[in-house]
Amino acid sequence: MNSAANEFRKDFKIFSAPENKDLVYLDSAATTQRPDCVIEAVSDFYRTSNANPLRGLYSLSIKATDLYENSRKTVADFINAPDSSCLIFTRNTTESLNLVAYSYGMNSVNEGDEIVVSCMEHHSNILPWQMVCRAKKAKLVWLESSDDGVISKEEYEGKINSRTKIVAIAQVSNVFGITNPVSDIAAFAHRVGDNGKGAVVVVDGAQSSPHMKIDVQQLGADFFAMSGHKLCAPMGIGALYGRKDLLDAMPPFLSGGEMIEYVTRESATYAELPHKFEAGTVNAGDAVGFARAVKYLDEVGLENIERNDNNLAKIIMDGFSNIPHVHVIGNSDSAKHCGIVTFTIDGVHPHDIASILDTEHVAIRAGHHCAQPLMQKLGVGSTARASAYFYNTQDEAVRFVEKVSKIRGWMGFKD
Ligand code: PLP
Repeated sequence: MNSAANEFRKDFKIFSAPENKDLVYLDSAATTQRPDCVIEAVSDFYRTSNANPLRGLYSLSIKATDLYENSRKTVADFINAPDSSCLIFTRNTTESLNLVAYSYGMNSVNEGDEIVVSCMEHHSNILPWQMVCRAKKAKLVWLESSDDGVISKEEYEGKINSRTKIVAIAQVSNVFGITNPVSDIAAFAHRVGDNGKGAVVVVDGAQSSPHMKIDVQQLGADFFAMSGHKLCAPMGIGALYGRKDLLDAMPPFLSGGEMIEYVTRESATYAELPHKFEAGTVNAGDAVGFARAVKYLDEVGLENIERNDNNLAKIIMDGFSNIPHVHVIGNSDSAKHCGIVTFTIDGVHPHDIASILDTEHVAIRAGHHCAQPLMQKLGVGSTARASAYFYNTQDEAVRFVEKVSKIRGWMGFKD
């Protein structure tokens, strides 16, 4: 894919809407734009196939059920889950991680156990584990990275041990953009954790699943969490993959309709996987959109997406290297950024960077990126972050760099 003449951009009508004609959207790590085919798939569901799935005995409900379950199979295949019953639809990565913490963590972690997280986790992969540690008198252990975002072998081999019950780690950091060595960490945790039984490895795939081919089996993920909206699917639909034996043994997270087999006044038996974890009316329309989105990404080609993201990060980072006072956070190798370039400008607050760029029709993120422990480690309150995706062009990356180069001048700095 040549991003100079980006053939996929036309699939995203938002960019040709008159009000967005000169918009440079560089906030895809927060949420991606949606191609027409996804918007169509969702509206087609409501136009032609809508009924409450999994309940009705009439044809329309059966059709909605089939569409929902086929979507599950498509998303499960996208990450090479061994069995689609191990793929639970959730609202997003945050809900997926909470499901694991409440249902697995609260029932398996005991006093004195350890849960290992990394210094670069999103709050969604910190707070649920803090909660488990507090409730169970367990210890939260932090994997540290170097300033360029690398978690070394010595670091994880020194922190994961027989007391480790759970390792919860992002495959790609939403601040550094770096890809953590998750399969090596998982292999080690499975060997030495939980008194030789193997620690359970929970992978936050929110930032990796949009950018690279995921194979949960090869990765060694016992759980893998993802959000649809970060990979061109609607907001409000996400997924959790879990190892079947673990999911089978776990109690439900939420309870009520749809997740039961039989209910009496006193008790209930639960439905089989995956429905045990999908209480209430499901989000079938967005599940259909999720499936269409991952098919679309396969059509674009994940290798192409990865190559294009790296190319755009290189243009941005090469450009930044020529601008005094601009500092990129993390690795100096643009191929290790997954299209994410987090940066600061001396003397300019990140919120001012984002607001000034907004007046120039450039959309980037500024703030702590829901990674305050990492901001504390880096000694910054907040940073600016540009995040590119395959619908961005080289021209946009160049224009972005040009505008960043002028910010200090616009603010009255003389150099
Ligand atoms: N984990 C990471 C690494 C993220 O970047 C994000 C969102 O930015 C999340 C988790 C939370 O995703 P969501 O808000 O879709 O639940």
